[in-house]
Amino acid sequence: MPDKQTRLLPATRDKACKICRTAYRYPEKGSAATRFHCEACAALPAAFRKVLNRMSMRIDALERKSNP
Ligand SMILES: [Zn+2]
Repeated sequence: MPDKQTRLLPATRDKACKICRTAYRYPEKGSAATRFHCEACAALPAAFRKVLNRMSMRIDALERKSNP
């Protein structure tokens, strides 16, 4: 029965940045990190983030392909 109670709150969670895979906590007071990006990557221009997201997804796909 305690399933619902033990579930982590959506607040403060350990996350891995979608671009650089750095571990970070979100949300953290005073931090500019977003749901998907660490502070450093969140500070990048949106156009850069878009390209880097795509590249990191591509790298993931290639890694999965080469070592399943
Ligand atoms: Zn990052």
